[in-house]
Amino acid sequence: MEDIAGAPQCPAEAAELRDRVAAFVRDRVVPHEPVLDAGGPEAVTTLRQLQAEAKTEGLWALPLPSELGGRGLPLRSYAHVAEAEGASDHGPAALGSAPLLDALMLWCHGSPGVREQYAERLVAGDIRACYAMTEPDTPGTDPFLTATRAVPGKDDGTWRVSGRKWFISGAADADLVTVLARTDGEPADRDGLSLLLVPSDARGFRVVRELPVFGASGQWEIDLDEVVVDGDHLIGERGKALDVAGERLQLGRTLRCLRWLGQAARAFDLMRERAVTRTRSRGPLGGLQLVQRHVFESLLALRTTRPLVYEAVARLDAGLDAHVEVGLAKVAAARTLQQVADAAIQVHGAAGLGPDTALPALFRTGRAARILDGPDELHITSVARRILSTT
Ligand SMILES: Cc1cc2nc3c(=O)[nH]c(=O)nc-3n(C[C@H](O)[C@H](O)[C@H](O)COP(=O)(O)OP(=O)(O)OC[C@H]3O[C@@H](n4cnc5c(N)ncnc54)[C@H](O)[C@@H]3O)c2cc1C
Repeated sequence: MEDIAGAPQCPAEAAELRDRVAAFVRDRVVPHEPVLDAGGPEAVTTLRQLQAEAKTEGLWALPLPSELGGRGLPLRSYAHVAEAEGASDHGPAALGSAPLLDALMLWCHGSPGVREQYAERLVAGDIRACYAMTEPDTPGTDPFLTATRAVPGKDDGTWRVSGRKWFISGAADADLVTVLARTDGEPADRDGLSLLLVPSDARGFRVVRELPVFGASGQWEIDLDEVVVDGDHLIGERGKALDVAGERLQLGRTLRCLRWLGQAARAFDLMRERAVTRTRSRGPLGGLQLVQRHVFESLLALRTTRPLVYEAVARLDAGLDAHVEVGLAKVAAARTLQQVADAAIQVHGAAGLGPDTALPALFRTGRAARILDGPDELHITSVARRILSTT
């Protein structure tokens, strides 16, 4: 894989794990990507098999808290593993890192009952969770307008949740859905939003339809029709959802950046290999200057993005505010994945668009990366505003 220039030295505790995870993803996960991408029962069986192998090999749940059954790797160490793990979109689920954000959220902000009921099972991979903020009829970039409502039940401490969410990753297979809903005030109020943990087998919860992204499965639209939720399933303080969501998004975006770096490095390797091995009458494609330019620009993008991502990692790991660093890293990493995958497709010619390489999937992830977890524009304006307000 493209060497890891631009990253700080990998802590000793993580170096061996990083190499073993890289081999696991390359040799076990990547060959199953077509099945996993297609979704459905075969994908579920394959994922279960990979998860069992990861557990047997001691590679399971590396960044999850040890109190919950994880390995407890701190972020500064896990970051290096996350790049290797993220080389495939399915790496985090296969290796048990995918529930990190949900497990931490329940651990830090869930009631004792919720923690006891779900947290360890989530880390063990026995149940799955997803996170539902975005709605079809209100802009996801303006959560204050959230239309989903939760109203108190009849003096029994319960909530009744109603609304519609879409582009919710993994919703069809989730046992628990964390739903952002307005519990107080009116649309556009800055306070009054809350997070509720909704069991997907509750009456009134429905998966409406799948929303394929460039043909790939994984995103879903869901409907909640007066779903009754126990009072202790409120996550964090009533009306203060955005404090919890903000904390979760900072770490979540940084983890995604690391995984996108892993995928961009994979696209780069495919491009390099093709440039060297595909030969015209006057020599390999890599001898052409315009192909060399693709290689140069891609390497430049990778090596200028990686330090930005590790700066965000360092600040989060130290417990410091990282809004500017995460914003810079998120925009840079998404652009880099899209750019490098696009260049690699170009160098492959038609083969880059066909079914024989991972490039279409890598490009798809790069394109979606510029929208999910906040589109580029949101991060650009938010970073610029912060910088301008401090001068
Ligand atoms: C693959 C994928 C997975 C996803 N997974 C989840 C999930 O699990 N859970 C979940 O809740 N959501 C998920 N989403 C939704 C995602 O987070 C939202 O799509 C995103 O936050 C943008 O919201 P929106 O689509 O409503 O766009 P809108 O808010 O309608 O914005 C549309 C466009 O307006 C422009 N714009 C918006 N704000 C600004 C601004 N401040 N300045 C300039 N221009 C601006 C941008 O061009 C933006 O793309 C996922 C999306 C994708 C594609």
